[in-house]
Amino acid sequence: MEKKTVGNLDELLAEVKKYIKKQENIDLITRAFLCAEKNHEGQFRKSGEPYLTHALQVGFILAQMRTGPKTIAAGLMHDVIEDCDMSGNDMKALFGEEIYTLVEAVTKIGNLKFTDEKEYQASNHRKIFIAMAKDVRVILIKLADRLHNMRTLQFMRAEKQKKIASETLEVYAPIAHRLGISEIKNELEDLCFMYLNNEKYHEIALLVEKRKAERDEQVQNMISEISALMDENHIQYRIFGRSKHLYSIYKKMVNKNKRFEEILDLLAIRIITDTETACYEILGYIHAKYMPIPGRFKDYIAMPKVNMYQSLHTTIIGDGGNIFEVQIRTEQMDEIAEQGVAAHWRYKENSNYNSVVQQKEIEEQLHWFKDFSLMSDDSDDAMEFMNIMQKDIFEANVYVMSPKGRVIALPNGSTPIDFAYRIHTEVGHHTVGATINGAIVPLNTKLNTGDVVDIRTSNQSFGPSEDWLKIVKSSHARNKIRSFFQKQETEKRANGIKKGEEILEEELKKRNLDTAMYMDQKKIESITGSLSFSSYHDLMYAISMKNVSLQSVIERLVKHKTSTQLDNEDLVKMFNRQEGRKKAPSKSGIRVAGIDSMMITLASCCSPVPGDDIVGYVSKGQGVKVHRADCPNVANEKERLITVEWEDEIETKNYEVNLVIHSTDRSFLLSDIVTVVSQCKAGLNHVDSKVEEDRISATTKMTAVVRDADHLRMLISNLKKINSVLTVERVIK
Ligand code: MN
Repeated sequence: MEKKTVGNLDELLAEVKKYIKKQENIDLITRAFLCAEKNHEGQFRKSGEPYLTHALQVGFILAQMRTGPKTIAAGLMHDVIEDCDMSGNDMKALFGEEIYTLVEAVTKIGNLKFTDEKEYQASNHRKIFIAMAKDVRVILIKLADRLHNMRTLQFMRAEKQKKIASETLEVYAPIAHRLGISEIKNELEDLCFMYLNNEKYHEIALLVEKRKAERDEQVQNMISEISALMDENHIQYRIFGRSKHLYSIYKKMVNKNKRFEEILDLLAIRIITDTETACYEILGYIHAKYMPIPGRFKDYIAMPKVNMYQSLHTTIIGDGGNIFEVQIRTEQMDEIAEQGVAAHWRYKENSNYNSVVQQKEIEEQLHWFKDFSLMSDDSDDAMEFMNIMQKDIFEANVYVMSPKGRVIALPNGSTPIDFAYRIHTEVGHHTVGATINGAIVPLNTKLNTGDVVDIRTSNQSFGPSEDWLKIVKSSHARNKIRSFFQKQETEKRANGIKKGEEILEEELKKRNLDTAMYMDQKKIESITGSLSFSSYHDLMYAISMKNVSLQSVIERLVKHKTSTQLDNEDLVKMFNRQEGRKKAPSKSGIRVAGIDSMMITLASCCSPVPGDDIVGYVSKGQGVKVHRADCPNVANEKERLITVEWEDEIETKNYEVNLVIHSTDRSFLLSDIVTVVSQCKAGLNHVDSKVEEDRISATTKMTAVVRDADHLRMLISNLKKINSVLTVERVIK
């Protein structure tokens, strides 16, 4: 930008009128200026100048960028809401919603504070800035504001200068670059460079200055030669030398590790012409006359850079052996190169520069982002740009801040809980509440870009709630919460297992049993199956939770043998020792008219019990044998059968029955059967079990002692409930 300041409204309007013709727009700008003048009255900047000067310069920079009247008006009033008494509603009433929204957004961005140097992340700051300013005009006003502040930075304290300069270099200059506004980007960079690395700045400035005379002469000679060439071929052109800005020389020296002398394009010439075709024509003449350096030709006209930059670049060797970088472009391309997105609007609808340039505010603010995405450029820069703009900002993320200014990117829809887990896992686990922008909010509140989120934690907190899993949006938080619960479960179980072991050991001691022998994991594992547990740890955990009777665990452990057969021997011995082993009843409990009960016996083949349907068989010399009515042994003896019936009151309570149990084989099946028999208060006179040849199934034969048919039914139904039992049959021998 050639001219840096304007002194008053008239000078501003003079610039504005170069491209804005409508009187109502001129009036709008005038009104905005007067509003700023009135509101900033009596306010002064550090420089001692009236505050209004700042507003005026910002408006002027925007006019130089050829922005629309509303943008200029908002620029003139950008500090009015923040620093003055004017309310938002007043501004809305006087200037309309659109201008108010612009000013408000600029104010909001101005309030972003990054106080914590350690946590400061420039790239995030940049993103939050762009995400908040969904309207590009807000960014343009902010850039104009920052440019003027940088130009007047000498009035600040040294410490503040460095701080503002580094923020500008890390945040504002890259944004200007992204938008293709190289005029502003270059000026910002050089100003920052001066404040941040004063020594180096002056060193390079001096080197440039030293070579200036020599260089100017070389450039001037080259310009004369090229001008002659153009004239010869009757081409429209404008030609001038240009100097690289100091910061870009410095960056090249640092990045490419080169000395000042080695930087090729110090001698640079730009040729501006009227048409695209003329650009290629000029290139042709230049390449025909001078030797181009291979690999240095770039056609950004056919393939524009993602920030819309268009130009032809070539590097040639002049007659004296000096190297020149030559840029060839049209007027329109030149303006876009200098002013980027700001210039882009002007040409959006007018492809011919020479036609009437109608200024138009962008109504659909995001259109230019789409324009960007339609351009292709194979450079990394373009890819990076697309990624940041589209994925990070517009699709995926919200950017929020800790009270200390740490910027956190979270998926859209995230809550304070997501935020808390990103600060620190322990902060997440101990979250009890949150505030957003100072107001207390529920933990499921959705965060918006720009929110300042403060998490309240408490050491009394028991940890996350399971409901949080439904609230959180980020997988980071979800994983942390899940693993918290998993860990808790694991700990609880580990403690339970330990406690179970202690309980069991204690119980063994109480019973004077050898703990060393019985507390053996292998040994215990061999009984887990019979107790329906799948592992040692499950059993110990169940003991601690009192989900299994200690008595049955110890019984099994003490009786423990490793196979059904061994189990059998043991049991048979046990029954043989059993006290009061039941004998066949002396009294049958059966009444037959005319026959002494002493002569009545129960058949041992089908073993009837009271309640069964029965018949009497008159045997020779042995009285009456009572069979079950369906016993096959008497089915063909009809003539010897007599009617018998059970007595009403039966004294005898012991009737033997023969049962066969089919099951799959497993350890301790027999002890389970015995347990059931005893639980049913039945007796057991004989039991025998064998594994079938298939080694899978087992058959258990038993002679049980029951009171009557109901008792028997109850016994059978309980036996059927035993794990792995398939059928229980009452059999006839
Ligand atoms: Mn300002």
